[in-house]
Amino acid sequence: MTAPPPGLAPKSPPSWARWTYYGYLVPPAGAAAQYVWTRGPLVVISSLIHAEFRGELRWHWLVSVSGNLTGASRRAAVLASPKDVSNKEKRRATDDELATVRKHFGMDNAEEDNHQPGCGRMLFRLCDARPDDPALCECKETEEVVTEPDGFTWSKERGADADQMRAAENARQLLGRMTDLGAGEDP
Ligand SMILES: [Zn+2]
Repeated sequence: MTAPPPGLAPKSPPSWARWTYYGYLVPPAGAAAQYVWTRGPLVVISSLIHAEFRGELRWHWLVSVSGNLTGASRRAAVLASPKDVSNKEKRRATDDELATVRKHFGMDNAEEDNHQPGCGRMLFRLCDARPDDPALCECKETEEVVTEPDGFTWSKERGADADQMRAAENARQLLGRMTDLGAGEDP
């Protein structure tokens, strides 16, 4: 994999924002590093990824946020969907929580771009943004945007089965990404 330019690293929050560094994940293909941060019910995975943007591989900061269910909200979710195990553990971040994450992780003008129906809300920002870059990932023009009942939107290839993708995402969340903790390097 292409190494990132020297000095480029995943986004981290300032100490005054009081996030707790949780650990690192084994970076998936295309990612240079992935760090996990928590604050209250929020979990952030902050990554540096080499991904295609309109036909060109470029470095991006990717900040993915989800919320842990706690107390009453967790019990309510279990009652609402007893068969959907992933819903017992995680939820999507609210708009207010996403705004906080944007501020703390320096992702103010980042595009929210979800390519899967999971709990994560994904913020992308080009590390080498140029004045002539379009603001949005091309999926917003070329793919089909699905809106879930809670207002969350995600894009999928035209013709792909949304239900199948939801089932796959649930299975993936069940496996638990935290099992990958333990390899890689601390920031
Ligand atoms: Zn996209």
